[in-house]
Amino acid sequence: MFSKKYLYFLLTFLLIISLILAGIIFYSQNQKLKVVFFDVGQGDAILISKGDNQILIDGGPSGKIEMEKLGKYIPFWDRKIELIIATHPDQDHIGGLISAMENYKIGKVIDNGVENDSQVYKKYLEIIANKNIERLKGKRGMNIKMKDADLKILYPNYVLENPPTGGSKDTNTDSLVAKLNYGENSFLFTGDFPTEKDQDIFNSGADLSANVLRVAHHGSKYATSEEFLSEVSPTEAIISVGKNNSYGHPAPEILDRLKAKNINILRTDEVGDIEYDCENQFSCQIAN
Ligand SMILES: [Zn+2]
Repeated sequence: MFSKKYLYFLLTFLLIISLILAGIIFYSQNQKLKVVFFDVGQGDAILISKGDNQILIDGGPSGKIEMEKLGKYIPFWDRKIELIIATHPDQDHIGGLISAMENYKIGKVIDNGVENDSQVYKKYLEIIANKNIERLKGKRGMNIKMKDADLKILYPNYVLENPPTGGSKDTNTDSLVAKLNYGENSFLFTGDFPTEKDQDIFNSGADLSANVLRVAHHGSKYATSEEFLSEVSPTEAIISVGKNNSYGHPAPEILDRLKAKNINILRTDEVGDIEYDCENQFSCQIAN
């Protein structure tokens, strides 16, 4: 026969295990959609999550900051990020993705297919190869389902490493653009998409309209033209930018352009992480 002490120990142990399991199941079935714009300094990193599914768009410049943010917004037992999207291979967008790929199991990576000679891009390719991560080159028409939300790739119009008519190989200029639709809510993610490519995206017929716009290229004056902004027609604009950065981002003319349209501006250098919680398909509210 077991001693009473042993029996109590066993019961307590089983109770704790059941509570942890119940917590995990409750969390996984808590289907609230969250979109978090991380404050990563001068750079860009966005986490979209629903239950235990995650999409990470860019990873900011630093692995250390990126890991802190992922640790804060992904529960400790969930070690998988279903999808990583790298908008373009610049340090301030893919630097932190390397640590994310080292520390999490990654379902797939989608990037714009543009090559780069930088050290950070070499490391990015190395980790994808070492961990045997499936890599897809993003282009318009790709549609990623995340339970009842979906993320559409709107740009580039074709796979860039093999453009039909001598497309650009510049890193910024072919930033991947994606739009998240969740019922009546929509978010447009623009990477560093520049004004010089406006006509390409307009001509493609892509529906750019969105409630929330992540302002392209950290508010650079070479992006977010008047026409682009009219196409998106957002009510809120997120600027992911470092305090006192050397680029002068965001440009005063972009801030004026947003204000003239009565668009509510939220900046990561002023308010830190910006988290949207969507209770259902009809309501997304800022949590902080
Ligand atoms: Zn950037």
